[in-house]
Amino acid sequence: MALQRDFSSILIERDRVAQRVHEIGHQITNDFRRAGVNIDDPQSPDSRVVIIAVMTGAMVFVADLIREMPVKLHIELVAVSSYPGTSVESKGVKMKTALPSDLAGTHVLLIDDILDSGQTLHALQGLISQQKPASLRTCVLLRKPGKAKIDVKPEYVGFDIPDEFVVGYGLDYDGLYRNFPGIAVLRV
Ligand code: 5GP
Ligand code: MG
Repeated sequence: MALQRDFSSILIERDRVAQRVHEIGHQITNDFRRAGVNIDDPQSPDSRVVIIAVMTGAMVFVADLIREMPVKLHIELVAVSSYPGTSVESKGVKMKTALPSDLAGTHVLLIDDILDSGQTLHALQGLISQQKPASLRTCVLLRKPGKAKIDVKPEYVGFDIPDEFVVGYGLDYDGLYRNFPGIAVLRV
């Protein structure tokens, strides 16, 4: 693949990603069941499951994950920018779209591609909590342990990775490489 010339290494091959996404999908589904969320009856007042996916990075992950979850669910997209353009350092969080405003009493699953400084998820968790959802859980594909300046503990983590700038499987550098099917380290 031509993209690969720009990578110094492939951190996680696509098959390993797929296997892990499969596992997490089942874990989330089981946890909903155990928590008594009536996921088979969306008419029941406390059964509404809402996935909030952070765009654009979580796009590929969410697309695969929801197909591993045999659950009646709603999907909402929010756009947040934290690494504008070619920057690889977090410059703070900016909401580019509004959150849905009808989350009270719902079971929210917040999904992002990667937990780095924690700013993005911390900000979103705060805003979502204000609406008093019945539950709020957070899922990330990747986490850079030790990096979080803010205490954010996602319930579901795909992989802990070293502190390197990664691309692929939805993650970009200046808009590129989102379509690479694994997780790769960019050659610098
Ligand atoms: P945080 O707010 O936790 O610092 O950053 C989270 C956001 O920064 C992620 O949603 C992602 O968009 C971006 N980000 C953090 N680390 C990386 C990385 O290694 N590669 C890419 N492509 N984006 C990253
Ligand atoms: Mg992001």
